[in-house]
Amino acid sequence: MGRLDGRSVLVTGGGSGLGHALVGRFVEHGARVTVLDRSEPKLTALREAFGTGVRTLTGDVTSFADNKEAADLAVREFGALDTFVGNAGVWDFGRSLLDASPEELGTGFDELFSINVKGYLLGAKAVAPHLISSRGSMIFTLSNAAFFPGGGGPLYVSSKHAGVGLVRQLAYELAPEVRVNAVAPGGMATDLRGPGAMGLADRSVADAIPIRQMVRDNGALRIEVEPDDYVGAYLYLACRDDSATVTGTVVDVSSWGTPKRT
Ligand code: NAD
Repeated sequence: MGRLDGRSVLVTGGGSGLGHALVGRFVEHGARVTVLDRSEPKLTALREAFGTGVRTLTGDVTSFADNKEAADLAVREFGALDTFVGNAGVWDFGRSLLDASPEELGTGFDELFSINVKGYLLGAKAVAPHLISSRGSMIFTLSNAAFFPGGGGPLYVSSKHAGVGLVRQLAYELAPEVRVNAVAPGGMATDLRGPGAMGLADRSVADAIPIRQMVRDNGALRIEVEPDDYVGAYLYLACRDDSATVTGTVVDVSSWGTPKRT
């Protein structure tokens, strides 16, 4: 028996990277999964990989209408919505305050915060009525950058810090019906892109830096991490039997804060 048998889960940004790994693990554990992503080719590949276990919607998390359509699709197709995973995000490739022009900081802020923060807020707004009905839960993807500097530039790091405040406030507002938590993974070699407004939309983190080796060489545990390595914490938070008392928390699975022993 799967830990999420019969549960309905909505994942944003499930087309690649961590989101793709989440879809795979949720399906493996018996969940029916709806995915909202802006990349139609990635969603086509996802449907081919997972067949009837998934439904997809091509849309943008910065639009409330798209979030609502995805939530309604999950309920229509699978009878309810039990878990919402806000995960779609972009990175700033570590562009620093001194290196970025004032124009880049302004337009980059608007685009990056619109996806990383507003996207989570509007997703939460769209799914809240369904999760109140099902007494479900929300899980947001944050980052080691939600706690520590250096995992990006000021735009990305402040957007992930903002996510901590969002989790705490929503957990407070939506209790006792809905649990709201987050997971903070560390670096992964994925297709993570940056804001087009900063000229960072055309390459991925995996292409730009040797991130797999950087995580291995600088991390306390010295392992080469794959997105799937971070997925267990989501499963725990999605599974009511395992985490019924947990809300308003961020599970840090990055090991970023533990100094490397020499
Ligand atoms: P990814 O690019 O492989 O996956 C993100 C997905 O989100 C993509 O499929 C993309 O098409 C989709 N997306 C982006 N903007 C969207 C929008 N406006 N509307 C709808 N879909 C959109 O990257 P990933 O590394 O798997 O990122 C997933 C999450 O993990 C992000 O929140 C990211 O900040 C976080 N994270 C990544 C790393 C890393 O090193 N890769 C580290 C810590 C946290």
